[in-house]
Amino acid sequence: MDICRIPVLSDNYIFLLYDSARGQAAVVDPAEAEPVLAALEPLGARLVAIFNTHHHHDHIGGNRALKQAFPDLCIYGGAGDRGRLPGQDVFLQEGDRLQFGDRPAQVFDVPGHTRAHIAYYFPPIAPDQPGELFCGDTLFSGGCGRLFEGTPAQMVASLGKLRDLPDHTRIWCAHEYTANNLQFALTIAPQSAAIQGRYQEVKTYRQAGQSTIPTWLGVEKQTNLFLQWDDPTLQAAMNTTDPIQAFSRLRGKKDQF
Ligand code: ZN
Ligand code: FE
Repeated sequence: MDICRIPVLSDNYIFLLYDSARGQAAVVDPAEAEPVLAALEPLGARLVAIFNTHHHHDHIGGNRALKQAFPDLCIYGGAGDRGRLPGQDVFLQEGDRLQFGDRPAQVFDVPGHTRAHIAYYFPPIAPDQPGELFCGDTLFSGGCGRLFEGTPAQMVASLGKLRDLPDHTRIWCAHEYTANNLQFALTIAPQSAAIQGRYQEVKTYRQAGQSTIPTWLGVEKQTNLFLQWDDPTLQAAMNTTDPIQAFSRLRGKKDQF
């Protein structure tokens, strides 16, 4: 399975999954249809699936037009998003399994950003291969999604599920927010060598016009404060020993940043 990024809108990514042996493709969170059709054209690939993570317009805007272009394609999304995802065919819940080409995937319920947000995880097919996580607006590189419909406790539980995956997992998040997230992180943890190093690396990428996505879960565990609610250093910076409160205060500060 090949994965490529299609940058759209101001800072969104659509991810195109391609199984060359079968000539089949799938997309994760198509904000728009045209760029997807343009990417499929040279591959000569048939679009067989849309994987939606949640109902926000910048993740589903291309659903209808893509289904018109490929009437047999199957649109997957969370069961809790019933009625909010245009053309939804499959209603997924925690632990559900699905298949794209030769790759099985599993579904995580990750409420917090929205109440019905889900993530798609493709485990590695060999020990030296990475797993692939499509997590929408739940986990970002250096950050996490805003809490529009969920509570801090829900988001911590959701991020906890993702944090439990192997370090050697590629994180395909839906927005290029990394530099801003790390700038914020350095206002909270200016002494962190890991965050400083990551910020320098990210600046170099961005100045060269390159994407910072995918990131690795192992990198995020070291450099993403939003995965460190149970770390005494973050808790001290947030003036609390309660993990949920530490996360909640951090999220609140980021909302003001
Ligand atoms: Zn969103
Ligand atoms: Fe979004």
